[in-house]
Amino acid sequence: MLQITGFTVGPFAEHPYLLVCSETRQAWLIDPGAEAEQLWQALQAAGATLTAIVLTHAHLDHVGAVEALRAKANVPVYLHPADDLLLAQVPQQARMFGLHMEPVRPADHPLTHGQTLHCGASACRVLHTPGHSPGSVCLFWPAEQVLIAGDTLFQRGVGRTDLPGGDARALFASIRRELWPLPDATRVLPGHGEPTTIGEERRLNPFVGEAAGFGFV
Ligand SMILES: [Zn+2]
Ligand SMILES: [Zn+2]
Repeated sequence: MLQITGFTVGPFAEHPYLLVCSETRQAWLIDPGAEAEQLWQALQAAGATLTAIVLTHAHLDHVGAVEALRAKANVPVYLHPADDLLLAQVPQQARMFGLHMEPVRPADHPLTHGQTLHCGASACRVLHTPGHSPGSVCLFWPAEQVLIAGDTLFQRGVGRTDLPGGDARALFASIRRELWPLPDATRVLPGHGEPTTIGEERRLNPFVGEAAGFGFV
């Protein structure tokens, strides 16, 4: 079984997720955007061993605690290579928002579309969902019926596409192609805001669901 704990961190109220396999106590941190110490304490309290840091994309609000966590645990960082450039530009991204951030070193392993990754005994499939950023991915856990959605799909919303590398047409196509086929009951855990389900969003999402005329395009 996979135990999933969400957090809310930093000026953008971003949600990192701590995933712990209850059988092996192996753990992942997804999108550690800030407050490395809080995330590290949660990991210790769970009696878990961190084996990977997985990034849904490389916007500043999702990567701010990566270097501090690398300093505590020598674990690999996973990112889709289409976001490598964004990761290299974290200080510039921060300046766009009037913030200061130190550089983040490159990712250690590329995520690829369709790849299966294991957190202990639990498996997820990597879905490349470009649009919010070129290298955005969602992580689908079939046994748990959970989707870690990054900033691709939100409750009644979608990720913004006005940042460098954003592409609204690509985003809508990604959601229709990769997310709408998932089971209705799939729990969507987003990078910001409230959780939702695939069935709810497919019906009611005003941007890309049936409510937006999805059935007719
Ligand atoms: Zn983002
Ligand atoms: Zn974000």
